[in-house]
Amino acid sequence: MSVESPVKRTVKDFKTDLHNDWCPACGDFGILTGIQMALAQMSLDPDKVAVFSGIGCSGKTPHYINAYGFHTLHGRVLPVATGARLVNSGVTVIALGGDGDGYGIGAGYFVNSGRRNLDLAYLVHNNNVYGLTKGQASPTLSKGKKTKSMPEQAIQDGINPIAMAVAAGYTFIARAYALEPKHLASIIVKAIQHKGAALVDVLQTCPTYNDLYTKEWYEGADLPEKRSRLYKLEEAGFDGLVHDVTDEQEIVTKKAAAVARSYEREPIPIGIYYQAEIPSYEDYVKQRIPALAEAPLVDVDVFSRDVGPLLEAMR
Ligand code: SF4
Ligand code: MG
Repeated sequence: MSVESPVKRTVKDFKTDLHNDWCPACGDFGILTGIQMALAQMSLDPDKVAVFSGIGCSGKTPHYINAYGFHTLHGRVLPVATGARLVNSGVTVIALGGDGDGYGIGAGYFVNSGRRNLDLAYLVHNNNVYGLTKGQASPTLSKGKKTKSMPEQAIQDGINPIAMAVAAGYTFIARAYALEPKHLASIIVKAIQHKGAALVDVLQTCPTYNDLYTKEWYEGADLPEKRSRLYKLEEAGFDGLVHDVTDEQEIVTKKAAAVARSYEREPIPIGIYYQAEIPSYEDYVKQRIPALAEAPLVDVDVFSRDVGPLLEAMR
């Protein structure tokens, strides 16, 4: 959910003056810019935005965004963001974290957050390594790959976040690239506007530890034809939107198409893989507790309720 401000916002409104600790040229800078551009484009009030992070280099992102921020625990960003989402429907909730954080230790929360279809946007800074702890292989590094801080090649296969999100039930699934902040911002805007669980897997460069998937690699500087290793789904005519959510066959077809595209490697598709507008978890909660349709839980006086009838019913 998002509430537009009557005041026109700029990227500057979402900047803080805190010292930034990221390594020079880290892809996190592009993701931070993409988020700030998206919030400005949507003209949101900073005090109507809450940004939650896990642990890792990306965990510092809320420090640098002028909005409410909560730097949570390793892998626990989604449960904390879920709590905020459920008690306060008046704020835009953005959760973010690294690939190790979200697809490793937080994998259970990742699956269940998709299944729940809460109205929040989850951005994963996917750099294939655990950057903050010196570059160990993360769950997205493919088998046989070896970055400069690994003594040997990875012997486990990498997971496919897009296919996992499809299976889990996310209703908006996209991929973007940290060093294309304009395109990233346009995807983040759509993820926030989507009413349901939105995943944006952001391919992120880590110049300090990931010497495989560098800016030059994504640009295809080593290829004879020097072409980008990325292409945009929307420019290729791909349409991931389910037009009739009552048509199960269309849903299956669109999910299968998203999964098939997610296995493309050369070039890698970015853009929206899948989107379906179906009722969110909050819609069902409001049906069950009509008072929450009138006001968010944070504004409901839960301490002055008459619990007498409830106690009577349990006698
Ligand atoms: Fe960025 Fe990698 Fe440095 Fe972390 S270690 S701040 S991800 S460049
Ligand atoms: Mg990482």
